[in-house]
Amino acid sequence: AGFEEAGLVEAVLRNVARCGYDCPTPVQRYSMPIVLGGRDLMACAQTGSGKTAAFCLPVISGLVAADAAGAGRGDRDAFGSGYDDYTRAARPRALVLAPTRELAAQIHEEAKKFSHQTGIKVKVAYGGTSMIQQLRDIERGVDILVATPGRLVDMIERARVSLEAIKYLVMDEADRMLDMGFEPQIRKIVDGMGMPRKSMRQTMLFSATFPPQIQRLASDFLSKYIFITV
Ligand code: AMP
Repeated sequence: AGFEEAGLVEAVLRNVARCGYDCPTPVQRYSMPIVLGGRDLMACAQTGSGKTAAFCLPVISGLVAADAAGAGRGDRDAFGSGYDDYTRAARPRALVLAPTRELAAQIHEEAKKFSHQTGIKVKVAYGGTSMIQQLRDIERGVDILVATPGRLVDMIERARVSLEAIKYLVMDEADRMLDMGFEPQIRKIVDGMGMPRKSMRQTMLFSATFPPQIQRLASDFLSKYIFITV
């Protein structure tokens, strides 16, 4: 099966073609229908397997479809998507957590390509560089925020980013995030979304390995998830 059969919206399919992807990789082939079907996902996949597109494509497609369904109902504010002018906090609808700034930047670039001409705005937040600059960009509108855990906690504590509108949560290279000691930040971020959120959002956990620590994250953060390994 190709990308056409996966159920992605037209605009996203065009971007896939523009990127020169002819045929989905195994992790993409398995992930897309699961995510588009509304299920949570635990995926064991290595770097280079095409996992970035495996989560970006269905998430972008889902957001585009939600916007099309809500068009004309005034669901989106007038100040650019994802920014609450009253609380002055950015409210992304999808969050991708990644262990390093390099990976976050890479996911950001790839997600932007897949969002071309869809109206979906992808922004990035990582440490080691000016937060003011990143916030300025985020406040111009954000649908998908790609972030490293430390910088995101900082922005949440300053009330510049709110996670109350999150519909999709992705944790990429979760095992590496734990190895780097980010578990307290990750738990703070996810617990901060509130317990009822677990069933209201869709969560995808990607990891190269599946040790007990990751199994625990999966059972804490996912609901009735589908497990795939490639
Ligand atoms: P990733 O595992 O997401 O880091 O992807 C590894 C590399 O494979 C990246 O350079 C992608 O652009 C590329 N790639 C991912 N999926 C496909 C595909 N279906 N067809 C061709 N190249 C792909």
